Amino acid sequence: SHSSSSVIIVGAGVSGISAAKVLAENGIHDLLILEASDRIGGRIRKETFGGVSVELGAGWIAGVGGKESNPVWELAAKSGLRTFFSDYSNARYNIYDRSGKIFPSGIATDSYQKAVDSAIQNLRNQEAESGGHHSSTSKVTEPPSTPIELAIDFILHDFEMAEVEPISTFTEFGEREYLVADERGYEYLLYKMAEDFLHTSEGRILDNRLKLNQVVRGIQQSRSGVRVVTEDGRFYEANYVVLSVSIGVLQSDFISFNPPLPRWKSEAITKCEVMVYTKIFLQFPYKFWPGCPEKEFFIYAHDRRGYYTFWQHMESAYPGSNILVVTLTNGESKRVEAQPDTDTLREAMVVLRDMFGPDIPDAIDILVPRWWNNRFQRGSYSNYPIISNPQVFYDIKAPVGRIFFTGEHTSERFNGYVHGAYLAGIDTSRAVLEEMRKEKETEDGSQTQL
Ligand code: FAD
Repeated sequence: SHSSSSVIIVGAGVSGISAAKVLAENGIHDLLILEASDRIGGRIRKETFGGVSVELGAGWIAGVGGKESNPVWELAAKSGLRTFFSDYSNARYNIYDRSGKIFPSGIATDSYQKAVDSAIQNLRNQEAESGGHHSSTSKVTEPPSTPIELAIDFILHDFEMAEVEPISTFTEFGEREYLVADERGYEYLLYKMAEDFLHTSEGRILDNRLKLNQVVRGIQQSRSGVRVVTEDGRFYEANYVVLSVSIGVLQSDFISFNPPLPRWKSEAITKCEVMVYTKIFLQFPYKFWPGCPEKEFFIYAHDRRGYYTFWQHMESAYPGSNILVVTLTNGESKRVEAQPDTDTLREAMVVLRDMFGPDIPDAIDILVPRWWNNRFQRGSYSNYPIISNPQVFYDIKAPVGRIFFTGEHTSERFNGYVHGAYLAGIDTSRAVLEEMRKEKETEDGSQTQL
């Protein structure tokens, strides 16, 4: 098959949908959205587990209550999305050791401060080194080594560095975070956005400008246009492409470019770190953990860093669901993705019995998302190292001819977040509209000359 449009958007995650919406609002109606999977949403994805709706991808609206309003929080308010305030501040007082004892708050506070100080010191050292002036100022800080230090170090680095370095999400939109717990899912926000410009009926998108199960494998461009080739041998032609696939997919060379991407582009793509973040859901026959809000988040201190460290109960959002969530990242995520879920369940039970004693019941169900092995994702989100050359970011974002890049990894201030992806989509579409305007001007100009 063969068709031609003004703009093809590759990917129907939040950035792709917000990009398409802005184009439609600006009169570009002959657009086409090609999505590899059988659904919209991308890294926003709910699944029914233990009778409730759980979020395998983005789970929180982060950055609420500040001087500026988070646009995703506004969309959530407009859609009536069900959300719960998350208070992480207690987590440090709920740190269990391997014998099930909770560390006294004094020790926890001291270890916390030590970990923050050491992270700040490391950052200063890195800054000094990257700035060239060698380490007269740099101090040697002892790396974290005890289980509690390792646990806190993991929380600081693999979750958020807010205590160490200001994060735009929290400085601009506020420090609060809200857990999304809605039967319609976080992804309901995407359907609400799509409703404004695509034909929908009874919660389903029926518009043939959205094509699901279209796996893009090649993008060819010439001076006059682009051709997008899919895995099943179809091709689509357009004046421009907006490419919203993740940084992990770009790194995997899943999509081939003809002509190849210039070297400055492909090198920048390899330089961005991909984080893997895995929320494992466990359902139990009954609740054996303290279900109060002050114990919503708890930490397991083990001598292996990141080993089933960060836990959450779902009693606030879904009372009586008897669900626990444990979060793994990076190496641990990749490890559990590669093993059968029964092994993961067994490991988690050993950890839980360390914390809550031998008599607790086995989990009756487990859900392990696999973001790393998903060929349409290849990771959870981008991470630009704090000390990194800003040029890497600008190069990742910059268009190559008629190919425009979008997605959370192209948001300068909010990469790694839903609102980052949302704002990136808007930003990229504006750049495309500007380019179209310029191209039209040149065309009109040359016509007048004739
Ligand atoms: P995506 O959602 O990945 O959209 C890209 C789309 O492109 C996908 O639908 C994909 O299927 C499609 N695609 C890929 N390859 C192809 C191809 N070859 N052809 C066609 N289509 C293709 N953010 C928060 O704000 N709060 C959180 O609490 C939070 N937690 C997270 C937890 C996890 C586990 C993960 C994975 C992410 C989390 N995030 C969170 C980040 C947030 O989910 C992302 O930043 C955002 O959803 C990314 O949107 P996107 O449009 O950039 O990319």
